[in-house]
Amino acid sequence: MVRTTSVDTAWSNWAGNQRSVAETVLRPHDTTEVASAVRAAVETGARIRPVGSGHSFTGIAATDGRRMELTDLAEPVRVDRERRLVTVPAGMTLRALNELLAGHGLALPNLGDIDAQTISGALATGTHGTGARLGCLATAVEALTLVTGTGEVLRCTADEHPDVFAAARVGLGALGVVTELTLRCVDAFTLLAHERPAKLADVLADLPTLLEGHDHVEFYWFPYTDRVQVKTNDRVADDDRPLAPWRGWLDDDFLANTVFERACRLGRASPRLVPTIAAVSARALTERRYTGRSDRIFCTPRRVRFVEMEYGLPRAALGEALTALRRIVDGLPFKVLFPVEVRFTAPDDIWLSHGYGRESVYLAVHQYVGMPYEPYFRAFEAVAEGLGGRPHWGKLHYRDAASLAPVYPRFHDFQTLRTRLDPHRVFTNPYLTRVLG
Ligand SMILES: Cc1cc2nc3c(=O)[nH]c(=O)nc-3n(C[C@H](O)[C@H](O)[C@H](O)COP(=O)(O)OP(=O)(O)OC[C@H]3O[C@@H](n4cnc5c(N)ncnc54)[C@H](O)[C@@H]3O)c2cc1C
Repeated sequence: MVRTTSVDTAWSNWAGNQRSVAETVLRPHDTTEVASAVRAAVETGARIRPVGSGHSFTGIAATDGRRMELTDLAEPVRVDRERRLVTVPAGMTLRALNELLAGHGLALPNLGDIDAQTISGALATGTHGTGARLGCLATAVEALTLVTGTGEVLRCTADEHPDVFAAARVGLGALGVVTELTLRCVDAFTLLAHERPAKLADVLADLPTLLEGHDHVEFYWFPYTDRVQVKTNDRVADDDRPLAPWRGWLDDDFLANTVFERACRLGRASPRLVPTIAAVSARALTERRYTGRSDRIFCTPRRVRFVEMEYGLPRAALGEALTALRRIVDGLPFKVLFPVEVRFTAPDDIWLSHGYGRESVYLAVHQYVGMPYEPYFRAFEAVAEGLGGRPHWGKLHYRDAASLAPVYPRFHDFQTLRTRLDPHRVFTNPYLTRVLG
């Protein structure tokens, strides 16, 4: 029997820009309970939405039907140390997964900026980190268990239900409820982070060498300036230069959260100061090197609330996209408080992954909560769409199925599979109707 509760039906996402009230909340404990909840929904014509930690900026997880939270899933954890394969319940957070892996001398090969998401939630939207030779997080999936829209339970790998496997790793929560995941890990590793300020033009000119020479490269461009902060992460021996804990707190938490929040508030209250704040921020960030456990270097706490749009583009389009972005930012009737984040990923074979079949560069535009953003995001989207861009499924965008189909070669295959796996559209919501038809 699936546990339900009616007291916490109201839901909002991390950024606070998406809200919904569910008819009821389901908290299944295992795959069998998920399957019976789906069959019950089919019988009554109800809808179910699996949700993670609510860290998507889009309405992808919102529902006025039955919200299914997967945090109580208690499928057993299995660790095959020799083959570096770990099987976990899908609703586990990345933070808990990272701790579990570290305890077994293992790690995920790459991660994004935070670890608050559930594993299944992060995978479902194509969450990625940076690494020109590494795909998005979903490329680490070796097997998954999916409860489809008829209540059928499918175990999927590259050999078992290969079409479902190719689609459901970045499934947008549209094909079913993922209850268990087997992830291909690597031996635990230490990263040396190197952060340094630079000129945008120099970084662009040197980009092929940077990408060739480092495991993970990203940079932040400060609007109204020609400055960037470059960050590279590379594998090193475990005892290489640890950052003093107070220094880590100062840079990662105090500067990135407390001081930055104050700067954002000041900029929101006095927009004419924003270019000066951006110039001071770009100059205030100094060069530093430090090492740490891989997940602690990849992920940092984010307490300053913002909204975000992110586009995956063919890597060759980076220069053109940044030139257009500078023009857009300078022409806006309001100021942009957040730097633009630029990251890189390798091609993969997952149908709705932003990196499907191509080397990607990701450009992420942000705005502080409470500031206008739509004209900025729409103008950037027009440029990104013209360059063959694919919007992050979990970040704000304005595209629909008709405009997305041409940029995903397997888009129609995904739609056909969706109809096969979820013929009654148990899992749909307004966002999925917009982006998948
Ligand atoms: C501060 C911040 C930093 C971020 N940094 C990054 C980053 O570095 N890189 C990046 O790519 N993205 C990043 N994101 C975006 C984030 O990773 C994605 O939006 C992610 O999908 C959120 O995961 P979640 O667990 O909160 O899932 P939710 O947002 O709750 O749900 C996302 C999707 O997952 C589906 N889902 C959840 N569980 C299941 C399940 N068991 N079965 C089937 N479907 C399921 C839901 O139906 C929904 O479609 C960031 C977001 C924030 C707020």
